[in-house]
Amino acid sequence: MAAAQDAHHASQATQTFDPPPAVAAAAHVPSFEAYQRLHRRSLDDPEGFWREVSDQFVWFKPWTTLQEWNPPFAKWFVDGETNISVNCLDRHVEAGRGDRVAYYWEGEPGDTRTITYADLLADVQQFANALKAQGLRAGDRVVLYMPMVPELPAAMLACARLGVVHSVVFGGFSSDAIRDRVNDAGARLIVTADGGWRRGRVIPLKANVDGALANGACPSVERVIVLRRCGNPIDWDAARDVWWDDAVAGQPANCPPAHLPAEHPLYILYTSGTTGKPKGVVHATAGYMVYTAYTSKLIFDLRGDDVYWCTADIGWVTGHSYIVYGILANGVTGVMYEGAPNHPAEDRFWAIVEKYKVTVFYTAPTAIRTFVRWGDHHPQGRDLSSLRLLGTVGEPINPDAWLWYHRVIGQGRCPIVDTWWQTETGGILITPLPGATTLKPGSATLPFPGVEPQVVGEDGQPMPDGQRGLLVIERPWPSTLRGIYTEGWGQPGHPGEFGDRERFVETYWEKFPGRYLTGDGAVRDADGYFWVIGRVDDTLSVAGHRIGTAEVESALVSHPAVAESAVVGAPDPIAGESIAAFVTLRGGIEGTDELQAELTQHVGQTLGRFARPKLLRFTDALPKTRSGKIMRRLLRDVAAGREVAGDTTTLEDLSVLAALRGDEE
Ligand code: ATP
Ligand code: MG
Repeated sequence: MAAAQDAHHASQATQTFDPPPAVAAAAHVPSFEAYQRLHRRSLDDPEGFWREVSDQFVWFKPWTTLQEWNPPFAKWFVDGETNISVNCLDRHVEAGRGDRVAYYWEGEPGDTRTITYADLLADVQQFANALKAQGLRAGDRVVLYMPMVPELPAAMLACARLGVVHSVVFGGFSSDAIRDRVNDAGARLIVTADGGWRRGRVIPLKANVDGALANGACPSVERVIVLRRCGNPIDWDAARDVWWDDAVAGQPANCPPAHLPAEHPLYILYTSGTTGKPKGVVHATAGYMVYTAYTSKLIFDLRGDDVYWCTADIGWVTGHSYIVYGILANGVTGVMYEGAPNHPAEDRFWAIVEKYKVTVFYTAPTAIRTFVRWGDHHPQGRDLSSLRLLGTVGEPINPDAWLWYHRVIGQGRCPIVDTWWQTETGGILITPLPGATTLKPGSATLPFPGVEPQVVGEDGQPMPDGQRGLLVIERPWPSTLRGIYTEGWGQPGHPGEFGDRERFVETYWEKFPGRYLTGDGAVRDADGYFWVIGRVDDTLSVAGHRIGTAEVESALVSHPAVAESAVVGAPDPIAGESIAAFVTLRGGIEGTDELQAELTQHVGQTLGRFARPKLLRFTDALPKTRSGKIMRRLLRDVAAGREVAGDTTTLEDLSVLAALRGDEE
């Protein structure tokens, strides 16, 4: 069976895109040979390689030992001391670039702000002093539950300045989800806002925090700092709550940075939970700092005059690494957007690109497929000529969506970096470099320097090129997750130094000792390009034929009527599993019986008869996590006619689920 699927991959690769000569000429890595040299050196001489990269940062104490690797426990820049807030802010201000814009902030309803590096540094120091005044010390945990406002990166950097460990909880989460995360982290303080704007509505953030803390449910929390954002009415606990403005009032705009050991935990971030109970992924200061800054520079090919916009929410790892830390470390200008892509109109993103003359644009396949559905006239009505580079992250991108992105948004001129990585990896591991890599739509292409991926079988042996297997990473990289958070983390001599060892080992290292198990399936082609197929648990077995749900989805989306699809397995008495497909159509197209038959045929022709969905249902929307990923677990329950079980706290809109279930009856 593998042969048919792999032929499918090969066919996807017939159209390739070389780096445009002008892009290559100006790029940090200007040719494929330069990339190959860099990658080889990073593996052959890691000490020399990372010495050069890390020398560009401010260290209070330079490192002498690059790495301690006691599988599966890794430390990087081991004996160095630094502070990431200094490398993101002070460094640029001291070099005379304080007037450069750090963020153009575009909020609802019509609010805008321009914040320079000097402004941000002052805000960060003042808020750090406010945290200190609340009695917080290095190693304490703070939960940030905030809208997409400039105070969020300021609060993150203020924590980092003191060595306080932040845990950002996405502003769309409910009270239950906040409570679980606050308690898991043992947070002493929460920073929130009265509300956040979303499509003209106020999300009651403070009320959600109140709900989480009600009845003494979070005993570790001593204080809640509240930013005034929407002016909506809120309840107030005078013994516990303090307004942001009052907390910072009278605090000096100067706060000396803590000199932190390289391995000091920088933050905890809970993974989005499409597969199970959220895990508190811990990242350490120096390795994360160096790796996110260096990947930002090479992959987005950043220069001083760039206006870079990543549309993710800072509540996800993409926002941590590629809106805040990695981007600020490069001293470029970012755009931060508070609202939704279709408010007030469906061309909102393109209006922002036009307004700020965005040069680098980074978004997710789910957004791209939505834009396809809304129609080309939206981007075509705006001036997108400032764009020079596009990026995508979050899930495999269907070649058709890739080609649309390239043609309609990039106007054929902009390379696309399809970046593969995870919350756990801290930074991008597999990716094109825009001046060096020939692109194949749908492939994340090749490893970043320092990274050695491999596709292996169940026995751990490398799979032949063109055959699917498990994606593993052969050696640690600087921003490898240090563990899963548990109480006592980081206290010297405490057994909790590496967190929940058991879950850490079991999840990522036990299957192949010494190699990081990504949980994703992949194929490497004859050119060494990686094609990530999706989570291994998204592989179906239909009458003994194995096929990735993403491949069936890709086949469906290649039909002109289809905007988006989600494919899951349903129990089948004969085939073991059968394929169930949920499909949303492009604007104006109706889901008729004829179309249903046509789509089933279309999948059969594209992938083979065995891959034809047994159930194909049209729907107005798919259930997604708040980071935009399809919740296949829920669809599996729907397809099997079961009650939907388990944790739905990350689901974007519960009414979607109700509609899907209602259809069934
Ligand atoms: P959880 O681990 O809690 O189930 P999650 O895996 O969705 O949630 P993330 O760490 O945000 O949380 O996502 C990482 C996953 O997203 C990867 O393992 C991979 O499956 C998918 N992914 C990310 N980028 C890409 C990409 N460029 N191509 C293919 N898949 C991608
Ligand atoms: Mg994951």
